[in-house]
Amino acid sequence: MRGRFAPSPTGEMHLGNARTALLAWLQARANNGHFILRLEDLDTTRVRVGAADTILRDLAWLGLDWDEAWDIGGQFAPYKQSERLELYEHYAAKLETYPCTCTRKEVQAAVSAPHEPETRYLGTCRNGVTHPERSAALRIRVPDQQILWHDHIVGDVLENVQQTTGDFVIRRNDGAWAYQLACVTDDLEMQMTDVLRGADLISSTSQQLILYKALNRTAPEFWHVPLMHDYNGLRLAKRNGAPSVKNLRESNSNPHAILQDLAKSLGWNVTQPCQATDLLEWFTNSLVLHPSPIAPELAR
Ligand code: GLU
Repeated sequence: MRGRFAPSPTGEMHLGNARTALLAWLQARANNGHFILRLEDLDTTRVRVGAADTILRDLAWLGLDWDEAWDIGGQFAPYKQSERLELYEHYAAKLETYPCTCTRKEVQAAVSAPHEPETRYLGTCRNGVTHPERSAALRIRVPDQQILWHDHIVGDVLENVQQTTGDFVIRRNDGAWAYQLACVTDDLEMQMTDVLRGADLISSTSQQLILYKALNRTAPEFWHVPLMHDYNGLRLAKRNGAPSVKNLRESNSNPHAILQDLAKSLGWNVTQPCQATDLLEWFTNSLVLHPSPIAPELAR
């Protein structure tokens, strides 16, 4: 078994991110597997200096360890996506793609029906670019058919990506490889067997499965875990005022008390501060997660 946590170094982790990392770690350790950290730093416009180091410190502070990562290397190094660009090029070349010069505004304007998702791409450049003078993005041709896949937590997911998203971007017009392609390339190359991540990525998984199929490769198993909410039902987010793990760490919070809170937020009745390894049993006995809100002082 090989599992991973793949943060984007765009800022500091909040407890929701930490809970997802904890679950991925528990899954790997409970199965005698390998736990891999991969840095998703392709969007250079959003990368923040120092964020990658902070993430490693935060995880270590919570008592999580790793077998392969960008600080220690490993058999599938490098573990920073910005150092793996040739691989993405190699994988992209196997796909049926076409250049597209539409701007985001033009994509949105083309979607006129009110029930259509705003970001659905209607295929304007499928038969040739409309603005040859502009730099082009690369899109993959997505078949107009339902795909059905199974998630170990969420259950069955049915999505027609052509209807929800359309032909999606593989390489942006600034040359940056898109998350979907990089993620699939790396999960394949790094031989991941299980992908445990936040439920906000369920629709991304439908897109990624189109890539696995186009590449004629088997996808890993998927486990989409609930996002963390505060007592107002708001998704935990820095912009809603949730403290970062770094803040908690630097204000001398007790990591064992934080782990207890994280466990309780999963519906695990842990009665005292604990270590990450103490949660292995809880994880093994209930991957049916019953999330409840996180305490107000931790949520804002
Ligand atoms: N880098 C993505 C994020 O931080 C996660 C990607 C993944 O786990 O597949 O949201």
